[in-house]
Amino acid sequence: MHLPVAVIGAGPFGLSTAAHLRALGIPVRVFGDPMVSWRDHMPAGMLLKSTPAATNIDAPQRGHTLVDFCDAAGIPRLVKDDDIIPIETFIAYGDWFQQRLVPELERVRVVSVDRRGSVGPGSASVGFELKLSSGELFTARAVVVATGLSGLAHLPPELAGAAPDGPSPVGPVSHASQHHDLSRFSGKDLMVVGAGQSALETAALATEAGARVRVVVRGRGSVGFGTPPWEQPRFRPQSPFGRAWSLWALCYYPHPYRYLPAQLRHYLVRHVLGPLGAWWLRDRFEGKAEITEVARIIRADAPDRRPVLTVRTDDGRTRQLSADHVIAGTGYRVDIAAMDFLSPELCTELAVSRGTPKLGAGYCSSVPGLYFTGLPAAASYGPVMRFVCGTQFASPRLARHLAASDL
Ligand SMILES: Cc1cc2nc3c(=O)[nH]c(=O)nc-3n(C[C@H](O)[C@H](O)[C@H](O)COP(=O)(O)OP(=O)(O)OC[C@H]3O[C@@H](n4cnc5c(N)ncnc54)[C@H](O)[C@@H]3O)c2cc1C
Repeated sequence: MHLPVAVIGAGPFGLSTAAHLRALGIPVRVFGDPMVSWRDHMPAGMLLKSTPAATNIDAPQRGHTLVDFCDAAGIPRLVKDDDIIPIETFIAYGDWFQQRLVPELERVRVVSVDRRGSVGPGSASVGFELKLSSGELFTARAVVVATGLSGLAHLPPELAGAAPDGPSPVGPVSHASQHHDLSRFSGKDLMVVGAGQSALETAALATEAGARVRVVVRGRGSVGFGTPPWEQPRFRPQSPFGRAWSLWALCYYPHPYRYLPAQLRHYLVRHVLGPLGAWWLRDRFEGKAEITEVARIIRADAPDRRPVLTVRTDDGRTRQLSADHVIAGTGYRVDIAAMDFLSPELCTELAVSRGTPKLGAGYCSSVPGLYFTGLPAAASYGPVMRFVCGTQFASPRLARHLAASDL
C-alpha cells in the first residue's frame, strides 16, 4: 500500500520523526507551522535551559546537529555545557533543519482524524481519514501526533475565577505561553505564579523590561536554581541534563519506563528536572523580582478587571495580593480531550492513563497505526520526552516500528 504517513506537527519532534520516516523511504505528509511554539509561545530574548549537547534535533544522517547549523550559519559554535543558546538561534536551527530534511512541509492545520474503518470482517484496518484546514480530505496509512505543547497550557482551577473565559493576555490572568513580548508590562505591577524555568525566566525578562514583578510560589524555599556545569560532581555519569545516575538512566534507557507503576511514571514526569531555574538565571532573578511564598492560593478574583489572589500563608493567615496582571507560569498538562482534532470515536478507543495515551513498543498507541511522540509520550517513555534531546531516542524507534508494521 502506498498511502502516506501523516505527521501532525512541525516542532522538533515532528520534523525529526518525518526526517527518519523519509530516510526509510516511507511516503510522508507533514503538517504544521514550523517551530511555532518557540516563535510565538515563548518570550523573545529567552535563553534555552538545555545545554548544546542536549539540543540536537535528531536526524537520520550526519550533518544536522546544532553545531552543524552554527557552521552553516557562520555563527560561533555552541558546544560547551556553559554555552547558552538564545531562542532565536534555536528557531533558526529548526527552520534550517526543516528546509533541508522536510522541505515538503505543508503549513496547514489538521482539523480532524478519524479511522477509515475496515474493508470486511477480519480484514486489517485501512488507515485514517484526515481533514485539513484547506478543506482537503485524504487517507493516511498511519498518523504520528507530534503536536507538542499546542493546546495543553495548564491554568490551575484556583486561578480560573479571575479568568472565567479562559486566560488571556488582555484579561486579568494569562498563561506564560500567551506572551512573546514582555515589554508591554513596563511600569506595571506583574504577578507571576510558579517556580519553574518558564515562570522564573518570564519574571526576569519582565523586570528587565521595566515591570515590578512579584513571583508567587507554593512552599518555603521552592525557588531554586541548577548547579553550574563546573560545580557538578565529576564521578557521576554525564547526561544531557547534568551529572546524575538517575538522569543518565532516564535519558539513555527509557525503554523500561512504561513498565513502571502508573503513579510513579506520572510523578517522575512532573518532578524530574523541575521546577528549577537554570544556573545562569540566578543573577538575573535574585534581588530583582520579589518572591512571595504561600502555603496555597485559595482563589483569584478580578474586581474591576484587576486580579486579586487570596492566599493562605505558612502561618495559616489569609492574605490578598493584587497586581495589574497575573501570568500563570504553571506549565502544560497532557490531555487527550484537548486534542480536539482526534475524533470522539478514536478517543474512546484509545487506552489512556490520566488523560495521556498509553503507548507500547515504538510509540504506538492502543489504536494500531496511531503514534504519539514528544510531550504526549512522556508518561510512557519518561521525562526525556519533554525535551528536544528526546528526539534521539524516539524518532528512529518510531520510524522503524512503523516501517516494520503491517499497516
Ligand atoms: C518556556 C519553555 C522553555 C523550554 N525550554 C526548553 C529547552 O531549553 N530545551 C528543551 O529541550 N526543551 C525546552 N522546552 C520544551 C520544548 O518546548 C519541547 O521539548 C519541544 O518544543 C517539543 O517539541 P514538539 O515538536 O513536540 O512540539 P512543539 O514544538 O510544541 O510543536 C508543535 C507543532 O504542532 C503543530 N500543530 C499543533 N496542532 C496541530 C494541528 N491540529 N495540525 C497541524 N499541526 C499542528 C504546531 O504547528 C507545531 O508545529 C521548553 C518549553 C517551554 C514552554
